[in-house]
Amino acid sequence: MSTTTLLNVNGIEVIYNHVILVLKGVSLQVPEGKVVALLGGNGAGKTTTLRAVSNLLAGERGAVTKGSIELRGERIEALSTSEMVDRGVIQVMEGRHCFAHLTIEENLLTGAYTRKDGKAAVQQTLDKVYNYFPRLKTRRGSQAAYTSGGEQQMCAIGRALMANPKMVLLDEPSMGLAPQIVEEVFEIVKDLNTKERVTFLLAEQNTNIALRYADYGYILENGRIVMDGVAKDLRENEDVKEFYLGMG
Ligand code: ATP
Repeated sequence: MSTTTLLNVNGIEVIYNHVILVLKGVSLQVPEGKVVALLGGNGAGKTTTLRAVSNLLAGERGAVTKGSIELRGERIEALSTSEMVDRGVIQVMEGRHCFAHLTIEENLLTGAYTRKDGKAAVQQTLDKVYNYFPRLKTRRGSQAAYTSGGEQQMCAIGRALMANPKMVLLDEPSMGLAPQIVEEVFEIVKDLNTKERVTFLLAEQNTNIALRYADYGYILENGRIVMDGVAKDLRENEDVKEFYLGMG
């Protein structure tokens, strides 16, 4: 089966505050239906890359100053976040960002605000989200503020799913979670990928877990891709083992 390139990031430079060059020519491809991991340590530029794709840099006083970003061949650098949502691209931010005073279910429903296909269809997606995340169903009436870190991460992913995305940009899903919960979250990501054909570009410091669940990986260091390859090969690569597999 041939794969189509869904996202093509081509040689992008990103500058913050007009002076700080953070991405120094990053190129990566995300094939449709795959899970691609963007790996690297603190400050390597992972979040910046995701923000560049979903056009969230302006709020951080950042800008793409070179290169191009294409979604199915269409240039997307100038699209607004809501135009990206219309094209099926949703970002789940680092740190989860659930609305603390809303219940889990209310949080999930905020993810459906751009949909125009009616209440019944939204309810169907909600049922599907609860099917993937039984913990959220149990906690549906609880205020997000009183749920665990793992439940909030699940809620953030569930909320993205409420928009029926084609691609989810997932920033640091393992952050601050216990290993067992991290495993649970990644299992669900893989499930969504295989059963719902959702494509994922995920940024992770936890190389070990990311390479167990991803199809392909890119390693970012100081704003440059220093290595990329099939996840299985990266896992067995001596440099990756030495420098990255202990992280996370
Ligand atoms: P982390 O896992 O710590 O989030 P990261 O790989 O996601 O790391 P980025 O958050 O993309 O890295 O940051 C890359 C570099 O850009 C860092 O040196 C960071 O200090 C800098 N940076 C990030 N956001 C801004 C900003 N709004 N203004 C100026 N510099 C920024």
